[in-house]
Order: sequence, then C-alpha cells, then structure tokens
Amino acid sequence: MTENRPPRRPQRRQTRAVHGGTSRSRFDETCEAIFFTSGYVYEKAEDAEAAFNNSRPRYQYSRFGNPTVAMFEARMCELEGAAAARATASGMAAVFASLMSQLKAGDRVVSSDALFGSCHYIIAEILPRFGIETILLDGRDLDQWKKALAKPTAAVFMESPSNPQLRIVDIPAVCELAHAAGARVVVDNVFATPMLQQPLKLGADVVVYSATKHIDGQGRTLGGIVLGDEEFIVNQLQPFLRHTGPSLSPMNAWLLLKGLETLEVRLERMCAAALRIAKFLGAHPRVAAAHYPGLPSHPQYELNRRQMSAGGSLVTFSVPGGKEAAFRLLNALRLILISNNLGDSKSLVTHPATTTHQRLKAHEREALGIDDGMVRLSVGLEDPADLEDDLDQALKAV
Ligand SMILES: *Cc1c(COP(=O)(O)O)cnc(C)c1O
Repeated sequence: MTENRPPRRPQRRQTRAVHGGTSRSRFDETCEAIFFTSGYVYEKAEDAEAAFNNSRPRYQYSRFGNPTVAMFEARMCELEGAAAARATASGMAAVFASLMSQLKAGDRVVSSDALFGSCHYIIAEILPRFGIETILLDGRDLDQWKKALAKPTAAVFMESPSNPQLRIVDIPAVCELAHAAGARVVVDNVFATPMLQQPLKLGADVVVYSATKHIDGQGRTLGGIVLGDEEFIVNQLQPFLRHTGPSLSPMNAWLLLKGLETLEVRLERMCAAALRIAKFLGAHPRVAAAHYPGLPSHPQYELNRRQMSAGGSLVTFSVPGGKEAAFRLLNALRLILISNNLGDSKSLVTHPATTTHQRLKAHEREALGIDDGMVRLSVGLEDPADLEDDLDQALKAV
C-alpha cells in the first residue's frame, strides 16, 4: 500500500465518512479496491511463521482480516470515535459475538426488554442455556436498572431508540450504574446510526450495528460491526470471531464503504421527512398514536434530545382496529413497500406483531407496548409529499 500525499487528518464527520480508512494499493485507485482473496502468500516459510506467532502482523487469511474489510472497520472507527472494530457478516453476528465473546457460565447480564426480536432471543433463550443469568427490564425506568445493577454484573445490553416502539434509554445514567456493578455496556445503535448518536461518548464501552440498515441503506447487503477499545476488540472479540468465522465478505465491505459516503446526506433527508410524516400521522383522525422521538409529544423527547441529534428515520404508529385494520392499511399502500427491513432509501412498512416480534407471546408484546394495530414505518428518500399522499389514501381503507 502506498500513500502519495502526506496523511491528512480530516476533522469533520462528513469528510471522515468519505475518506476515512482509505488505504490505496500500488495502483493508486480513487475508489476503494475490492480484495477478492481468501488467502495471502508469503515469500518464505519464516514469514508465515512470523505472521502466525504475531511477531510480524500481516494479512494471513480473510477469515481473520482482509484489506477491504479493514477499510470499512477503520472508517467506522473514525465515525464512532472508537479505538478498534471488527466487522461481521450480519448485525446478529455482531450482537451475538459482542456478548458471547465476553461471557461465561455463572455471569449475569442485565438488558432492556425493548429489543429487536433476535436480540431478545439471544438474551432470553440462548444465554441462559449456557448458565448465564439474564435479567430483562423496562429500559425507561431507572429504578429498575438501579435494582438490577445492585449486584455484580458482567454485561449490560440495550437498544435506544428501540425497535419498534422507539423507547429511549438514558444511556449515561445506565452506564454509570453499570460500571459501578463492574459491567461492560453494549449498545445496539442501529436506529440512531453513528451520525445521530455516539454511545461511546455517552459512556458505553461497546457499540454494535447491523450495517444492513442505514449504513448500506440501499437494500443490497447484510453486514455488522462491533466497535470498542483495543483491549476488548483485540483480546476478547477478535479471537472469538477468528475461530468461529462470521466474517464479512470483501464485496459487502465495499458496498458498506460506499454506503458510509452518503450516510449523512441520506439521513438528513430521511429525518426531515420522518419528522414531517410523524406530525402528519399524529394529527390524522384515523391514527390512534404516533411515536417519534423527534416530536415533543414523545414522552422521552427531552432525554432523547440530550443524546441524539435528530429523531431518526423511523416512525411507529397504531391504527384502531388491531391486526385487521393494520393489514388493511398495509395492503392499501401503493408506494410504500411491505418489508421487515429498515433504513432503506425505499420507504418500508412492517407489522411488528406478526413479523419481527411474532415469536413473543401476546402478553409479552402487550407488556412491551407492541399492540396489534402497530405499524413501523421506515421513511426513505422519496418525496415526503408522495409518502403522505400514499399514507392518507391507505388510511382511508382502515
Ligand atoms: C436488524 C437489526 C439487527 C440485526 O441485524 P441483521 O443485519 O439483520 O442481522 C439487530 N438490531 C437491530 C436494532 C436491528 O434493527
């Protein structure tokens, strides 16, 4: 790898999103190169030995590291203000590895209960099978955190804003309680993205992403990443990933690098449109409740303003009439697509109770505030007036 000019130190976020982590080959390409290779060659047997005993670190095998993947990791570190990161094949691989790499039988985990369905499955179903005690609580309630974190705890997990209710956790307050209990705090920051909220600056130790969502943002690939300090990423996470193998492919890393270049621009448009649509839905006579953290009517608006720079691209609302009414609405949409993905340039709607959260029992969904009339809308990059028109005509069918 060569650099023709003295290394720059881009200061501002959007510049880092375009240039951060770029490492050029000897061909001096403008666009990041895709290194389609599973392995690497050594000039001499001694070089391979030195690589494997770590006396001369270098690329050895793409399950451990790849130059295109490393560019994505480095660019994400610059955006997040993290010392180190490792990318994974999907968001769930990132969540699972961030927890499993640091936990053992007898450990205790405390987590907010408003989680993406698969994160809930890992905490509630998988971890206890390995003798890990898990406590799920209402992440909005600091008293519940205080009580749960009165005992020594290994890890704390949370999602803020949560999927799909857009509930907010007071990240700095929970981090303080968690650290006093000896816990490492892992934040799933998918709904906020590194552009709107930086959990490490709020006191968290580890941040995980599904890069499938806004970071790709164009519905092309799965991907994930875990960011944190050197000690955790290099000594604990890296061996776990290296020996279990959920590696990100170089092709997908390249797509995600391209996604990062436009992330902020896309989010600005999506957040402005989401705010406008949240207001429109909140005032609509056929909508029972609209949730959006960027609207003062959100019960945790002030808290969210302290930790997130905008309300995000997701709006959740309920229609009276339960599942039947929600289905009528979804089926009447002509522009907005039915899909359980989110963060895409195309606006997407899903009915959480029968998709992402269908595995939960009815009373569990009720306790989490996921009612049968609830619809999650991921606002894309279409003209917001067309989105409003589509919602308006579909709401007439409810
Ligand atoms: C989608 C999502 C995940 C899982 O990511 P995949 O890339 O689909 O594996 C985890 N957490 C949240 C909050 C998500 O929205």
